Amino acid sequence: MYSKKGAVTATIALLLAAVVFAGCGNQAANAPQTPVQNGTNAAGSNNVSENGAVNDGGAKDDQAPEGNNAANGSNAETGNSANQAPDPADSDKGSGGDKAAMTDSESVAVLINKQFALPDDYEPKDLIYPDVRFTFKDKIEKRMMRKEAAAALEELFEGAEKDGVYLAGVSAYRSHRTQTALFNRYVEKDGEELAKTYSAVPGHSEHETGLAIDVSGSDGKCAAESCFGDTKEAAWLADHATEYGFIIRYPEGKEDITGYKYEPWHLRYVGKEIAADIGERDITLEEYYDAVPVSGQ
Ligand SMILES: [Zn+2]
Repeated sequence: MYSKKGAVTATIALLLAAVVFAGCGNQAANAPQTPVQNGTNAAGSNNVSENGAVNDGGAKDDQAPEGNNAANGSNAETGNSANQAPDPADSDKGSGGDKAAMTDSESVAVLINKQFALPDDYEPKDLIYPDVRFTFKDKIEKRMMRKEAAAALEELFEGAEKDGVYLAGVSAYRSHRTQTALFNRYVEKDGEELAKTYSAVPGHSEHETGLAIDVSGSDGKCAAESCFGDTKEAAWLADHATEYGFIIRYPEGKEDITGYKYEPWHLRYVGKEIAADIGERDITLEEYYDAVPVSGQ
């Protein structure tokens, strides 16, 4: 073993850096250093997965780095198991939304956060490849979304282009298997406590729903980085995403409620009606359901 002390120090430094990208930020590590067009991003797999973002000095991600290779495609298509019995919970409507939808994995309005998880065997049954630009060419897991969300995403990208805004997908679906493999790798490396500070516990990443996607401008700059917030793409999304049924899931100033730092790039599909309501009231999905703030405060 080489300098254990040095390795520990380096790891700590990287973890600190990683905190910044806490939310879904797979991509700081993944972010193309060169503009998107570099094509085959087989790199996508190298970036974060095996070596781990830690070693690469990339930001780790919480909801998740890619690690697409783990499950890459295959299991997503099989759509086997995934037999989600809708949570029979009371269909009690709070002052917020429909509480049955909140806990129904099959609902596009399901609430997934640090408190609410998907069942371990959950696998969306209707994943497809949205016909939009991505920062990579491969047809791999992270390019997929559930059908309804994919169709809405296509409309959103079209709407943006009409306004002269060119978006690109960075990372969408992530299977439970991928998230688990990734998380386990981090636990082996850093122990569970530390791993939890930068990686989403399997079942708790919104990317596992097939309803979330990280986007950037078509040049891939600032993908999953806070500087994205200053781009015209981010401004357009903040103004128009809800028209297409998407919300900026982790807004600025709502960290105590969502449990995540501001992530202007992380879009979550919830359907037009709910998105409009959330947009008008300037609230989060947690508030929409009157759910307990993740911070518990
Ligand atoms: Zn994300």
